[in-house]
Amino acid sequence: MAEAPDSHPTDAPGPGPGPEVLDAFASAKGFMPVDEGLALHAAATEAGLLGLPLLEIGTYCGRSTILLADAARRAGVTALTVDHHRGSEEQQPGWEYHDPGTVDAEVGLMDTLPTFRRTLHRAGLEDHVVALVGRSPRIAALWGTPLGMVFVDGGHTDEHATADYEGWAPHVAVGGLLAIHDVFPEPADEFTGQAPYRVHRRAVASGAFSEVSATGSLRVLRRTGPGPV
Ligand code: SAH
Ligand code: MG
Repeated sequence: MAEAPDSHPTDAPGPGPGPEVLDAFASAKGFMPVDEGLALHAAATEAGLLGLPLLEIGTYCGRSTILLADAARRAGVTALTVDHHRGSEEQQPGWEYHDPGTVDAEVGLMDTLPTFRRTLHRAGLEDHVVALVGRSPRIAALWGTPLGMVFVDGGHTDEHATADYEGWAPHVAVGGLLAIHDVFPEPADEFTGQAPYRVHRRAVASGAFSEVSATGSLRVLRRTGPGPV
């Protein structure tokens, strides 16, 4: 059967996720729309070419982790994902994004780690992922390995988003990618506020990153120089 001549753009960073990965992603609990997920997967696939680990802040139940894990598997690198698994402010009981199914009844607190483990296992991707369970700034303070990609999707307060940027952006290798989720330039657009937008502006203003793509609320930036972030 003849193929449409432009069905494989030559500048595409790599093939998208296969049907099994896409299914696992689409059926996983979480907060990443499919179009943004495809853009994240494309960025992670490209970043994987550097041969360095890909790191996510904000695992939740593993929805976006599936995409980083698939890209890592293809590139032969490791996906790392950071979360204390107790949920963000807006995910606590009584708040807009709360899911009662994430509460550990014995402890009386959210615990998304068991769901994350099941999600990754079902997707067949757990061998490609290392979960780092703890507060992002505490883990970042111990970190020393250059990263091919950092995906910031953790807490949405200025305190958390700024700490994620300051803790992890310096570890993005030159040529590597910084992706930021929930970037809303208009104040009224989203309940979770504009801290990620402010972090995005700061990254661009630093001169160390330049914008590669924007899909929905996902922004992808490339580290262009070794200077301070
Ligand atoms: N990437 C996920 C959504 C992440 S939600 C998806 O695709 O569905 C944000 C997550 O960040 C929550 O699970 C919360 O526990 C975590 N988080 C918030 N602040 C954090 C911090 N300071 N350190 C570690 N994890 C944090
Ligand atoms: Mg998000």
